[in-house]
Amino acid sequence: MSLPARLCVATTCPACAAPLDVVEGASSARCGHCGNRLLFPGRRRVLTYLVRPEIEAAHALAVARAAAPGARDPELCLLPYYRYTAQELRWDWPPTRPGDDGAEPDANRVPQLAERAIERNFLACAWDGLGLYSLGVRTTALRLELLRTDTLPAEARVVAAEISAADGLAHALRVTSPELLAHRAVLCGVLSLVYFPFWIVSLGTAATCRFAIVDAVTGALVSAEGPPSLRERLATSAAPAVTPIEPRVLICPNCGWELPEDADHVVFFCAQCQRAWSLADSRLEPVAHTVARQPAGCAGAVQHHPMWLVDVADAPPALRRIAVPAFRHRTLRLVLTLATLLTRKHPEPPSAESAPADAAGAYLDRDDALAVARFVATGIDAGRAASLALGEPRLVWWPFERLVGSLREPYTRFALPVNSVVEAPVAVSMARR
Ligand SMILES: [Zn+2]
Ligand SMILES: [Zn+2]
Repeated sequence: MSLPARLCVATTCPACAAPLDVVEGASSARCGHCGNRLLFPGRRRVLTYLVRPEIEAAHALAVARAAAPGARDPELCLLPYYRYTAQELRWDWPPTRPGDDGAEPDANRVPQLAERAIERNFLACAWDGLGLYSLGVRTTALRLELLRTDTLPAEARVVAAEISAADGLAHALRVTSPELLAHRAVLCGVLSLVYFPFWIVSLGTAATCRFAIVDAVTGALVSAEGPPSLRERLATSAAPAVTPIEPRVLICPNCGWELPEDADHVVFFCAQCQRAWSLADSRLEPVAHTVARQPAGCAGAVQHHPMWLVDVADAPPALRRIAVPAFRHRTLRLVLTLATLLTRKHPEPPSAESAPADAAGAYLDRDDALAVARFVATGIDAGRAASLALGEPRLVWWPFERLVGSLREPYTRFALPVNSVVEAPVAVSMARR
């Protein structure tokens, strides 16, 4: 599974105020100090982060003076960047063979599954040509913190984000290799706004003099060619865009039972009162769900995993009920195979009266479920998939047989290796490229 790199976000525990590191985009975490499980506003909100400067003004001045002896008046600026991470599933056409101009339809040329991580960082204001465009090229151990106006670095000038979040998202979602693409689904997307610090150092006293730009984290000289017009742009500073968030203790809103924490869960299940909750902004909202009964003669102990079922009225049988497994598995290819087999077979197990066994949570939300449903349908019947009227996804706890080393779906008898079914994400730092 190609997962995007996840940065570390430094915050504090809302329960005990101890420092707490969480992975970027996390929906929940556990405080190592007080042990509380905490809910964070995860996906589908644009959170605002700050990267704290590590280089003093004197150091920045020395760097700039190496480029121009007359350098003076270093000024700390926070530049806004959009950062987007997601997982992309694609059906890609294989490249045509040399000499094949594509004029003759080739029945053997069918789209192939490709999966990749999307990670894009780009400037959210129009400061072109200064080598500032990408956040990724100049960061090593990048550490984010949730931006709070009362903890901004002293004297820092905040540069306004000029690109709206909607335009930033559209830019982040631009298609790579469009000539190969038959269909794609983008899952688990997280868009953030990151303020990154730079020292802007004037290279002289004249109104026409240029500027040096020094990375305030690494101390590297980014450019000594900042145009005089920068002075005008720097004269107007803006209030940073702040997304207020209130991390809360992760408990069942109905009965107060602790919910299991998992950074990627967007649906939580309460083992005490058997309710399911989906994350909406920073609240938990009830989500209707049923439990599917296992067929007679299941060999092993049964474990339930979340599945979204998407009904499609008026579709041929092989597309009438699209199954979208919503649990995390390292090998997405196997999950898609299971989805395809279950969709083709569309078993209709009656609802069980009993509670789901070992139910944890789901990492695909309703919108992701719809995207995957259409992706699965495209793999089954590309001609029909685009026009299918997908119904509202239904959450079902689906039975799996726990066998030695594998988890077997009892209706298709398709088995997934068990040790990679659940694997928590790990925060990493961006590697210097
Ligand atoms: Zn705590
Ligand atoms: Zn409960």
